[in-house]
Amino acid sequence: MSAIRVEGLRVSLDGTPIVLGVDLDVERGEWVTVIGPNGAGKSTALRAIGGLLPFDGTVELDGSPIDRLHRRERAKTIATVAQSPVVPPGMRVFDYVLLGRTPYVPPLGRESANDLAVVEQVLEELDLTRFAGRRLDTLSGGERQRAFLARALAQGAGILLLDEPTSALDIGHQQEVLELVDRLRAERALTVLATMHDLTTAGEYADRMVLLAGGRVVAAGTARDVLTEENLAKHYRVRVRVIEGEHGPLVVPVRG
Ligand code: ADP
Ligand code: MG
Repeated sequence: MSAIRVEGLRVSLDGTPIVLGVDLDVERGEWVTVIGPNGAGKSTALRAIGGLLPFDGTVELDGSPIDRLHRRERAKTIATVAQSPVVPPGMRVFDYVLLGRTPYVPPLGRESANDLAVVEQVLEELDLTRFAGRRLDTLSGGERQRAFLARALAQGAGILLLDEPTSALDIGHQQEVLELVDRLRAERALTVLATMHDLTTAGEYADRMVLLAGGRVVAAGTARDVLTEENLAKHYRVRVRVIEGEHGPLVVPVRG
């Protein structure tokens, strides 16, 4: 069974059609990365798949249509790290990560000892324990990205949606975060659906890629299938050289 099955996904924002019929499957434990130029509809598609936007078409998570999952159930199945997560001002890292436990807290109830223990364990796992009492807005970009991931992990969902998890980071911290996601994927048997801009890096980490342009899937398959000079020239309007690297295609922009 697919962890994520998307068929004929259509999403409009304020009456404007943005996602125009997307099909997409992610197997359990697989990492699929959606690439595509700015404005292609990547974030919009991801938000719909995460249950954060109304849509037409089918989105199934672990075989259940997402619109039939109660909000709490959905949150225990799928966790989203947004492109620019909203950070409550002044909030401390521990309390932020604890927000991930919201679907487990009974209405009008409080977090249980187990919720606190889960948060402590996730902080430890992501090397954030020493930041637990720090205000989130005082962290560096890499530390903050780990805190965003920590909140999503504390949610205990098997499916992780990551919208440009590395865009704000230097290459060292990009690699650190992606390696971390890959390690967690193996250890926790997570399914990952991400969007990314750095094409070479995207290809290195993804099992499969989907190229989205103008709200439609225009290419899908392995990095080698998708990251071709023709595809990138056509859909990004850029001249690139694609070089065969040790771990997959290397995409190098060249001057026209
Ligand atoms: P991506 O993540 O691929 O860069 P997005 O999903 O964020 O793309 O946005 C897709 C398109 O939707 C963009 O062209 C954006 O301008 C447009 N858009 C975003 N919000 C609205 C809105 N409220 N009404 C109409 N169009 C919107
Ligand atoms: Mg986006």
